[in-house]
Amino acid sequence: MDQAGWKILGVRVDAVTMDEALARGLELLERPGTHRVITPNPELLSQAARRPELCALLNRAELSLADGVGVLLAARLRGAQLPDRVPGVDYAAALARRAGERGKRIYLLGARPGVAQEAGRRLLRDCPGLVLAGAADGYFADPARAADEIARARADLVFVCLGAPRQEEWMDRYGARTGARLLLGLGGTLDVLSGRVGRAPALWQRWGLEWLWRALRQPSRLGRLYRLPLFLAQVWMEEGRGICREN
Ligand code: UDP
Repeated sequence: MDQAGWKILGVRVDAVTMDEALARGLELLERPGTHRVITPNPELLSQAARRPELCALLNRAELSLADGVGVLLAARLRGAQLPDRVPGVDYAAALARRAGERGKRIYLLGARPGVAQEAGRRLLRDCPGLVLAGAADGYFADPARAADEIARARADLVFVCLGAPRQEEWMDRYGARTGARLLLGLGGTLDVLSGRVGRAPALWQRWGLEWLWRALRQPSRLGRLYRLPLFLAQVWMEEGRGICREN
């Protein structure tokens, strides 16, 4: 099933609310085959604009969520309507709860050693019924073996947190090999779910400024800030290709 959305710098972003995205995720979890969810941010979209093969693989994902305020701003700048942000961390936590109600098996892949295991412990506490099929860090040498481990663990759902665009490339290339129904590319989500990285205060979250809060607390991320205005300018200037309606 395809749904309405927009293409931003050539990459499809679906016009869905959190509830709609959850319903769609659960539907994909039951549907035979392997499906992917991406959460593109401005940096990834800018990269995709320069790399056609990255753009193509992102568009092969079944669901593409407007994770950050940057994507929403870009859409609004051009008069496109995306209903709301669907933050990847919140989406992942809510989907895990729903998957738990159905007794699904989750696998957590990514982040520094020990982080995925801790995130798993916390998810099991918060998501009755959820089964932790396995957890592994994201600093592996053999990407095919990482997929085979997931297949052995018989996971239904996989959180893939390797940073962008590595996680999207890995999901596209090795996703089917895992045998899982649904893979989600979620950036730093395991760091947050494990408690290693705190969430921004509620007000910052409500205003969509969590990225700014994280950048201010983690100086290594400050360099990313200048990319947002560049991204907005790119969307603004690329008449036609900057944003166009999908469906
Ligand atoms: N990461 C990983 N393997 C790598 C590089 C990064 O597992 O080879 C992890 C890293 O530890 C962090 C996440 O990927 O947990 C990236 O987080 P970030 O918030 O930077 O995500 P992005 O903004 O790139 O989506």
